[in-house]
Amino acid sequence: MKIALIAHDKKKEDMVRFVTAYRDVFKEHDLFATGTTGKRIIDEVSLSVHRFNSGPLGGDQEIGALVSRNEMDMILFFRDPLTPQPHEPDVTALIRLADVYQIPLATNMGTAELLIKGLKEGHLSWRKLIHEQGEE
Ligand code: PGA
Repeated sequence: MKIALIAHDKKKEDMVRFVTAYRDVFKEHDLFATGTTGKRIIDEVSLSVHRFNSGPLGGDQEIGALVSRNEMDMILFFRDPLTPQPHEPDVTALIRLADVYQIPLATNMGTAELLIKGLKEGHLSWRKLIHEQGEE
């Protein structure tokens, strides 16, 4: 599965801890991230991550492009609800696209934990069917 990881600045520490805690799950999947979030995961969790631009420089939109091709399977987006973001429109656009394509998206660690546990238990296998149908 392709999993996108994005964390606003005040949530990056949480993201690093979260990915560390579920490293055994994440290491089985293809990870994508906005620039700074991805760098921290590479450096601090030693996982391979495809990094896009930093969020404010278009990284959320790059992830959105994959969603629009139905190529992203899950998005974990640790948002900071207490700090205004210069790229708020991009954030809104990404969440909208996830709804268009019915991609599981968590905007906080509580939901992310449920998604990762669901992934581990195979509840996202319907995404494999979507990929197989796309190849026909
Ligand atoms: P960053 O982007 O990982 O490059 O900091 C995240 C964001 O703020 O959208």
